[in-house]
Amino acid sequence: MRTFEALPKPVTPRRIVVANQKGGVGKTTTSVNLAAALAQGGLRVLVVDIDPQGNASTALGVPHGEGTPSIYEALLDDMKFEDAVVASPEAENLFVLPATIDLAGAELELVSKVAREQRLLKALREYMQDHEVDYVFFDCPPSLGLLTVNALVAATDILIPIQCEYYALEGVTQLMRTIQLVGSELNSSLRLWAVLLTMFDGRTKLSAQVAEEVRSHFADETLETVIPRSVRVSEAPSYGRTVITYDDHSVGANAYRTVAAELAARAAEEQA
Ligand code: ADP
Ligand code: MG
Repeated sequence: MRTFEALPKPVTPRRIVVANQKGGVGKTTTSVNLAAALAQGGLRVLVVDIDPQGNASTALGVPHGEGTPSIYEALLDDMKFEDAVVASPEAENLFVLPATIDLAGAELELVSKVAREQRLLKALREYMQDHEVDYVFFDCPPSLGLLTVNALVAATDILIPIQCEYYALEGVTQLMRTIQLVGSELNSSLRLWAVLLTMFDGRTKLSAQVAEEVRSHFADETLETVIPRSVRVSEAPSYGRTVITYDDHSVGANAYRTVAAELAARAAEEQA
């Protein structure tokens, strides 16, 4: 078995929300592959799937059929995280709180709940009291509804994946407004931590143009490493795998491991 470079622990646990209300920009792909890469580096990682589609659960090889204890019960029925969290076969120390299709109704059902924006934070806090976790990733749905707001409230940091395609920055203004609102009203320690360029195609001018535009818009936040468009990355989920284990020498796996190392190095130096 291959051994991996040990990654440094963060100064304090990081809770990262992977958000962008556009669909198909690489949120799930980024959540699961960064999580797997950090776990392979020896860190303890929890992925919280809060998209009713359950794509993160699929890619991490955990069951999420109807009736599976999931984020839905944690948010709406006061089930403890630990009764729904399962280990992912993708790496040691990689855990998943799966999402089932039940979550599709949660946006509406949350509306009438007490402290509806803080439910995820409260449940996660309890879990983290008894479980050592270095990184939590929240894989968000493509909307800015109550599920995403719950993740923004529970998080320390935001990672925005941006696809190197036309209209890449479309919607980002609205996302930034939501982040600001949540930051001032509900979670003052929330901050934009990183912007990751995904599905970069080195052969096209468009990819380079988008990358340049994003870098000028988010000069400090945009990560050095870009994720190339690669068939291996898109194939992996259909085998219930991350590209990190599906093809660990591929360009996609290397890129995600490099990003994981870049983030781990940052988090080992600074407080959340
Ligand atoms: P989101 O969660 O934002 O909706 P996904 O992570 O599901 O986006 O990605 C959308 C689609 O693009 C998926 O089919 C995924 O497999 C594919 N994809 C994501 N990243 C890459 C990549 N680097 N190269 C090729 N395909 C990718
Ligand atoms: Mg997704």
